[in-house]
Amino acid sequence: MLLELLCLWLPLLSQLLAADQPYVTLRERIMKAEQMASLGGNLWLTADEEKANSILMIAKRAEIAEGIKYPEKYAPAMHFFQGKQYVRQSDVFRIIQKMPKGAFLHGHNTAMVSSKWIISNLTNTNNLYTCRDINGVLIFTYDTASSNCHSEEQNVCTERINAEDRHQYERQLEKHINMHTTKPETLMPNKKLIWNRFENIFTTVDRLYKYQPTYCAYHKRLLEELCEDNIIYAEIRASLSPLYDDNNRTYSSLDVANQLERIVEEFKAKHPDFVGLKVIYAKRNRASEEKMAENIRTFKQLHSAKPNFIIGFDMIGQEDTGDPISKYVNEFSDMPSTANFFFHAGETNWYGRTDWNMMDAILLNTKRIGHGFALPKHPQLWSTIKKRNIAIEVNPLSNQVLGFIWDLRNHPASFLIAENFPIIISADDPGVWGAKGLSYDFYYAFMAMAPVEADLRFLKQLALNSMKYSVLNSVERRKFNRVFQKKWQEFIANIINPKFV
Ligand SMILES: [Zn+2]
Repeated sequence: MLLELLCLWLPLLSQLLAADQPYVTLRERIMKAEQMASLGGNLWLTADEEKANSILMIAKRAEIAEGIKYPEKYAPAMHFFQGKQYVRQSDVFRIIQKMPKGAFLHGHNTAMVSSKWIISNLTNTNNLYTCRDINGVLIFTYDTASSNCHSEEQNVCTERINAEDRHQYERQLEKHINMHTTKPETLMPNKKLIWNRFENIFTTVDRLYKYQPTYCAYHKRLLEELCEDNIIYAEIRASLSPLYDDNNRTYSSLDVANQLERIVEEFKAKHPDFVGLKVIYAKRNRASEEKMAENIRTFKQLHSAKPNFIIGFDMIGQEDTGDPISKYVNEFSDMPSTANFFFHAGETNWYGRTDWNMMDAILLNTKRIGHGFALPKHPQLWSTIKKRNIAIEVNPLSNQVLGFIWDLRNHPASFLIAENFPIIISADDPGVWGAKGLSYDFYYAFMAMAPVEADLRFLKQLALNSMKYSVLNSVERRKFNRVFQKKWQEFIANIINPKFV
């Protein structure tokens, strides 16, 4: 009896040592136990899934073997800006691109669409101008009279026509809305520089996307890019700031929500497998209590008008330099029971400072946590998160590009993966660093953050988690499940068909 009781809470290693087993058996059993306990470890695969898994794992092991021989070309251990060229040649990546990935749960609308597409498709109208604002940042604008220009305006169409090399001109423009640099190591030590560059991008596109026709074209493309990456549902952070048009009409936040909802419904009519898109109303994390109270009032109005479309509230901006969640406890104390918080929290390298935002997020009953990068440092918090099943939205490439970590094999979410935490993988702002959808982040999670032997079970569990932690009503959940199962079977059939390669 005593022995049985002891077994219940002695770690496996101690149990095995006490049982006096051969050394080789001990090793195997310990590794098996870790594998079973990690994310996806207890998923069961069908015979066809096992076949697909073998193909996936042959490709994965080959890439790792190559990476050990040629570490200078091993993308999972490199910065994305330097590794992307190798990712694009990867068989594992190709399989991940084809995989149905479920839901995109952490993204900011104005940074989700590919910068290249924006320059090629949204800068062609003859009423678009560029100029420099007071800080020298390039801004796009349609209404030169009311913009913040501190330099002469240049008509984009005229400049493009006059340019010696049109493609070169477009590449130059794109640099203003993309973080890419060939030497990310020079940016890495200076977070202020990185975040300035990042926030300048939002300044550059602000007036562009606030022009109603462009806003609509942009969001149609956003949905297309999700579909192209085999994503069937999204919950995006958006500020729903007022829009303007040529007729001097101003669209209120509710008008903007209506426009966006209409775009989503039209898209769903053309793409019957698409489940939908919902909005997390997101406002800056630098504001007075009065301003935040006003934000919450607007949110409540929007939510009561569209409870199944505007589903929650979040704060955005660099967390280390922004105001803490605790500043607004009073303003956040009275949320409608149908709404949720989805706080960004713990997106920091600090220990015992900014990271306490995760505690406030939990105390305010957050539905999910954006990033939770600092979570493994806080046992009180992670044990509660696991018990309450609060999902952590992990954004690998965002953490790298924004300067929190260089080698993603050291990402703290490896701990969450090992412990089978409720996590989902997302992409944050893929359009501004040359990623698209979720595939690149899934690739890095699979190749850099998960154990070497993590397989199809891991990837499938990530997709299943994205469905589990989405905010869906029962009709939507049934549709999600049905579409996902169908697409998953097609995906498996596609991999095991020899023509796939
Ligand atoms: Zn974010």
